[in-house]
Amino acid sequence: MSNAILVVGGGFAGLTAAIEAAELGHDVYIVEKSPWLGGRVAQLNKYFPKLCPPSCGLEIQFQRIRNNPRIKFFTQARVVGFRGVKGDYTATVRISPRHTAPHNVDFSLLASSLEGESASEFELGLAKRKALHKDMPFAFPSRYTLDLSCLSKADTARVAGNKFLDVTEQPRELELRIGAVVVATGWKPYDVTRLTNLGAGTVKNCVSNMQLERLASPFGPTGGRIVRPSDGRMPQQVAFVQCAGSRDQNHLNYCSYICCMATLKQCLYLAEQNPQTRITVYYIDLRAPGRYVKVLEKVKAQPNVCFVKGKVADCVQAPGDTVRITAEDAVRGEKLTLDYDLVVLATGMQPSLAGEDAPLPLPLDEDGFVAGGEEAGIFAAGCARMPLDVMRSAQSGTAAALKAVQTVKGR
Ligand code: SF4
Repeated sequence: MSNAILVVGGGFAGLTAAIEAAELGHDVYIVEKSPWLGGRVAQLNKYFPKLCPPSCGLEIQFQRIRNNPRIKFFTQARVVGFRGVKGDYTATVRISPRHTAPHNVDFSLLASSLEGESASEFELGLAKRKALHKDMPFAFPSRYTLDLSCLSKADTARVAGNKFLDVTEQPRELELRIGAVVVATGWKPYDVTRLTNLGAGTVKNCVSNMQLERLASPFGPTGGRIVRPSDGRMPQQVAFVQCAGSRDQNHLNYCSYICCMATLKQCLYLAEQNPQTRITVYYIDLRAPGRYVKVLEKVKAQPNVCFVKGKVADCVQAPGDTVRITAEDAVRGEKLTLDYDLVVLATGMQPSLAGEDAPLPLPLDEDGFVAGGEEAGIFAAGCARMPLDVMRSAQSGTAAALKAVQTVKGR
């Protein structure tokens, strides 16, 4: 029997679960597939409830992890094998090579001198990244990662012989003995290119709400200026299209919970940067649960924001790289055709496990959310279970940690 707990996923819910379980005296292993901890929150400009930047909440979590010797974490790692019984499992973890020294080395000069680059997943296609990169200044661990697949010939010569790089490093596997598991595999933005009528991926200046977060972030590709990707100009007319892919039986057959609040937050970003920007929010329903209704009231009071109840039928390219929206105003019974400098699709959240091989034997529902496993001592947390905001994800991480602790203590 083991009283250690495995946490799969190092986003906000997983970090919370890991810290809570470790502070109750349990050894905890975090297995995170990306090179850094922090999950989706790290990509945001600000997050609810206090609209603080991600570094603020995450730094506290990272500090608690640094200070707690019971927590071990593995990045660029995946669970590739899982066997045993409740209370006595063995997980096989495969760790991909990072090719950089195990301590913090400042590679910024070398990184910028390299030619090889590829589309940055972190910047959601809005920018490229170098082969040797660290996606954010507050990255934890504060280490670069080297992607050998995009090194040019000249780059290979540049990195060869650097004593802090090891291009020969190979993947390795280790086995962890654990008693219970928290699955906090998080979410991914719905693939907007599937919303063909809304122009995502084909119409210039039509972006997703997560891309807008990167444009608004001071560490993003524009240094925090919300501009049109096509020409770097500040938009004067912006439209938000709510429920883009959510509440639609052809896409996500549920309400994604966060995208109304994300839009309200992003209206405030735009108003802060340029109070003259005129914003239209096309919606079917507006969801501002609990005390968030105050945010809705605040945004509704902005002189340049208007709300139109009605469904957007399509977005197409119009002259001057504007985006032409055709929509129905359900209240006035009118068809609208209007051009905008920038259109933001309020795309929903899909569980990361949707369409993927689950790391553990887990029952998933038809949408890919974890729907069971507790009888086996496997507890889902955060958006692996259901669409949640950051605060509720953290609460669900705590709940899952306590259940995992009870499982290993009760054996
Ligand atoms: Fe639509 Fe709002 Fe629900 Fe998102 S949160 S799916 S935008 S109603």
